[in-house]
Amino acid sequence: MPATALQRPAAPPLVDPFGRAITYLRVSVTDRCDFRCVYCMSENMTFLPRAEVLSFEEIDRLVTAFVRRGTRRIRLTGGEPLVRRGIIDLVRRLGRLIGDGLDELTLTTNGSQLGRHAADLAAAGVRRVNVSLDTLDPERFARITRWGRLPQVLDGITAATAAGLKVKLNMVALAGENDGEIDTMLAFAAAGGHDLTLIETMPLGEIDGDRADHYLPLSRVRADLATRFTLVDLPDRTGGPARYVRIAETGQRLGFITPLTHNFCEACNRVRLTATGQLYMCLGQDDVADLRRVVRASGDDDVLDAALDEAIARKPKGHDFVIDRRGAAPAVRRHMSVTGG
Ligand code: SAM
Ligand code: SF4
Repeated sequence: MPATALQRPAAPPLVDPFGRAITYLRVSVTDRCDFRCVYCMSENMTFLPRAEVLSFEEIDRLVTAFVRRGTRRIRLTGGEPLVRRGIIDLVRRLGRLIGDGLDELTLTTNGSQLGRHAADLAAAGVRRVNVSLDTLDPERFARITRWGRLPQVLDGITAATAAGLKVKLNMVALAGENDGEIDTMLAFAAAGGHDLTLIETMPLGEIDGDRADHYLPLSRVRADLATRFTLVDLPDRTGGPARYVRIAETGQRLGFITPLTHNFCEACNRVRLTATGQLYMCLGQDDVADLRRVVRASGDDDVLDAALDEAIARKPKGHDFVIDRRGAAPAVRRHMSVTGG
């Protein structure tokens, strides 16, 4: 028999105390980024010393352990995953797990480096990427991302599509900023054959401004769209906070990610690994398991399995997000670039 990536006998699947099977792992491969989106980071972010960040070998070992325990989908994220040096080597390493326990390897990117990496990603087994695109207006794009430039991202999306990658667009809805652009984004997505998902801002980490200023409840966006379109609820579920509708007039699928509501927690199938090997069992809670300490202390996979069991036993029932309108501290202190969204 050929050796497979998962040579050890299958260990029992990871199931949390509420009976939820953990089948989806998000892996932040770096906290660094070439953009400074206003809702995500402050402009003068301090990044982690490199020694604290997991090596590719360590990420590989952890991901392989998760796949052996039932994880079927991996999403690489960050920070910006494509700015980590040698990232394609990591994607190739993890790509070998596809069909060997893993159904899908995807990534979420700001698109800035897709032009040079799209073909390699496709060759390594990636089939889909999520690209964050909040606006099609170059000036607004520069204002929201601070350091980003729109044409580079649009070229990246073109390159990804040309390489055969399916591109999903994620748009953070910002009151008084891009709320007038939703129809334009829908038309752009339809023309390129992309799904579009709208995201509500989440209170993660200190930023320079006040998030409540731009908080736009997606219930309001949906009500507005419903005055012009027929929105048909779809049963599609990903185990995450996204809900989907079909726009009857165009046939397009549109997603809404409303993490401040609790209606997705009961089906939550995911955990998040930071670039430093901290496992967050919930995006909206601070409880964490230090898996870097485990992989650096021992090469024994039984020890690692025990640490995974211990962590998953602590997965909470749901999150505690609140956008505090009095301008108090964010609900969760770490930034989205730490847990990767
Ligand atoms: N750099 C990549 C990107 O922008 O796609 C991946 C990491 S980024 C943290 C992942 C997603 O989180 C992006 O779609 C981004 O727009 C979103 N995001 C960042 N901060 C957020 C916040 N405070 N609330 C809601 N979404 C946020
Ligand atoms: Fe970077 Fe993504 Fe955060 Fe924007 S949302 S600053 S692109 S990590």
